[in-house]
Amino acid sequence: MARRRGRRTKKQERVSRYAGLALAALLFAFCCVVTAGEHYGWPTPRWSEVEAWFGVADAPAAVTDGDTELHFIDVGQADATLIRQGDEYALIDAGDLGGGDRLVEYLKTAGVQRLRCVVMTHPHADHIGGMPEVLQNFPVDEFILPDLGLMKNLSTSDVLARTLEALKDQQENGCTVTAAARGQEIKVGAGTLKVLLAGVETDNANDLSVCVKFSADGLSCLFTGDGEGPVEKELLAVEPNLRADIFQAGHHGSTTSNGKKLLAAVRPQYIVISCGQDNSYGHPHAEVLRRFEQTGAEICRTDQQGSVVFSVAKNGEVSVRTARESGD
Ligand SMILES: [Zn+2]
Repeated sequence: MARRRGRRTKKQERVSRYAGLALAALLFAFCCVVTAGEHYGWPTPRWSEVEAWFGVADAPAAVTDGDTELHFIDVGQADATLIRQGDEYALIDAGDLGGGDRLVEYLKTAGVQRLRCVVMTHPHADHIGGMPEVLQNFPVDEFILPDLGLMKNLSTSDVLARTLEALKDQQENGCTVTAAARGQEIKVGAGTLKVLLAGVETDNANDLSVCVKFSADGLSCLFTGDGEGPVEKELLAVEPNLRADIFQAGHHGSTTSNGKKLLAAVRPQYIVISCGQDNSYGHPHAEVLRRFEQTGAEICRTDQQGSVVFSVAKNGEVSVRTARESGD
C-alpha cells in the first residue's frame, strides 16, 4: 500500500530551507577551493577528477579556429573517437558498457546534434557498450556495421541486440545501415572516411574489425579497431597506401596487433593509445610501447592524459590538446 504523504510542518520547511542554503554554501566553498587549488597548485582534486566522480564527461579540450578535429575520448579500457569536419560529425565506436550516458554528454558538449556517420568496428562491448545510448540521442545518417557474416559462430550479446534494436528505429527515420565493404567512402564535411578493409573471415570477433582511414585538411588517421595479426596482414596485402599522420594503436596497444610491418607502412607522426588506467590486460604492452617509441612518433595515452584532441588550424598547423597532463 502506498504511504500517504503528509503536509510538511512550518518547522520542517524551515529545516529544509536551511539545509538547502547550507548545501549551496558548501558547494560554493568546494568550488572555490578546487579552483584556487588548480591555480596555486595546492594538493586539491582537479576539475577533471571532480567531473569523473560525478560521471560528467571531460569537457573537450579547447580547439583552434580550424575545421578538422579528432577527439580520442577517454572512455576507460575501450574506444570511442569523434571526428568533426566543418559542421559534420562522425563517431568510430562508442565506448564501454555503463559509459553511454557519459559519452552522450561528451558529444553534446562537443557540439554534436546529428551524426553524419557512425562506424562500429566490431561487436565487442568495449566498442559498442554506449552505442544504444548514442543511437537513442542523435539522428544518424549512415551506420557502418562490420560484416558479421565473416564470423563463424557469432554469439549475440545483450548490448549487440540492443544496438541492432536501436538501429531499427534509426532506419525508420532514414538512416542508411550497411555492412562495411572495402573501398566504401563516406563524406564527412569536406573530409573522407574510407573503408580500407572490412575484417577477415574468422572465429575471433576482434578480426571482424573494420579498418578505416579519415582524411581532411591534410591530416589523416588510421583506425584498425582491435584487428589482430590476420587483419594487419590482409591490410598490408590489399592496401598500397597505409601512410597516416595519426595511428590509433590497434587493440588498445596489445601485442596481438601493432606489428612492425604495419607500423613501417603507416609511418605515423602520432600514435594514440586508448586504454584504461591500470587495466587488467596490461595494455599497452611494454614490447608494443618499445615498438612505438622506435617509430619516433609522439605517443598519446588516454589512460594517462584523458581525452586527446587533435585539431588543424586554418593555417594548417596541427595541435594536440589533452584533458590532463601526462602522469597526473
Ligand atoms: Zn577493444
